[in-house]
Order: sequence, then structure tokens, then C-alpha cells
Amino acid sequence: MAILKIAQMGNPVLRRPADLVPIKSIKSPILKKFIDDMIETMREYSGVGLAGPQVHESLQIVVIEAHENPRYPQTPTIPLAILINPAVEPLTDETDEDWEGCLSIPDIRGKVPRYREVRVRAHDREGKELDFSVKDFFARVIQHEHDHLQGILFLDRMKKLDTLTYMAEYQRYWTNQ
Ligand SMILES: [Zn+2]
Repeated sequence: MAILKIAQMGNPVLRRPADLVPIKSIKSPILKKFIDDMIETMREYSGVGLAGPQVHESLQIVVIEAHENPRYPQTPTIPLAILINPAVEPLTDETDEDWEGCLSIPDIRGKVPRYREVRVRAHDREGKELDFSVKDFFARVIQHEHDHLQGILFLDRMKKLDTLTYMAEYQRYWTNQ
């Protein structure tokens, strides 16, 4: 496996809608290796999710996994999920505002409104169809990653920029760590 280079804000790949993955190619060795590399990269950089464009591949692939880590202490656990060509639909009008960060926007946090519950339809890495609903933190992460596939960054979703915070100040003022 390999650690992939992360595209940082300003890289045009982050602003392009990503291409659908042809279902027939999901189980190809190239894609299998790419997904393994995405997982490895997400873990290396303590991300809770990573989308294809963030590693310079304009493909609709998202990997998500969360457990307590230095970037996200006290984070709820999300078991490893691989979502290919995901469609995300809100199941409620209710939104929640909470802190987000992004490996493509290092050392910055901001409060972002997200739907509290969403329905997700996607394919897994075996090509199997998935259809499930998620709430709260998991729903937030999926909306963030799904946005990457549309060329949208979390800054675009902030209602106001007044919570924009550098990591050192975030840790100093906004966590109890
Ligand atoms: Zn991100």
C-alpha cells in the first residue's frame, strides 16, 4: 500500500465534479489498490474521511472511518465504510452546526451546518448496492465527503466565517483537551 499525496485547497481537482466509477471496474485490481491506498492515506493523516479528488483522482469514491485520534479526540466511532458513486438525500429539514476540518484545508476548523439525518445510496467495494440512513456525526462526515465529489469544500457551507479558527486556537479555546 502507498500513502497518497493530498491535494490542498487551490488545487483545481478539488473544485471539479468527480466522475462516476463504472460499476464494471469496481473490482478491478487498479481500483482495489487505489481504495486500499485511500484507506492507508486516511489513517496515516488521521482523517475521518477521504474523497477521491483529495488524492488527485477525480472519481466518486469516498472512504470513511472514525475513532479517537489526535485530530479528533472524543470522536464517535464509525466503522470503515467505502462508498462508490454515493447519492445523499436529506431525511429531515433539521440541521446542526458543528466543527469540521479537512485534510485539504490543513490546520483550520470552522462550524458548518449539516442535515442531521441523511439517506445514502452507493456501491461498496465489491460492487454491492448499499441503501442506509445515518444520523449526526456519521451523517455530517458523509455530507462533507459527498461535497468533495461535487467540488464543494466545507468553507462554502459555512453560513458565516466568524468561527473560522486555526488549530492551535481551536485547541486552546474550543476543546477541553
Ligand atoms: Zn474534506
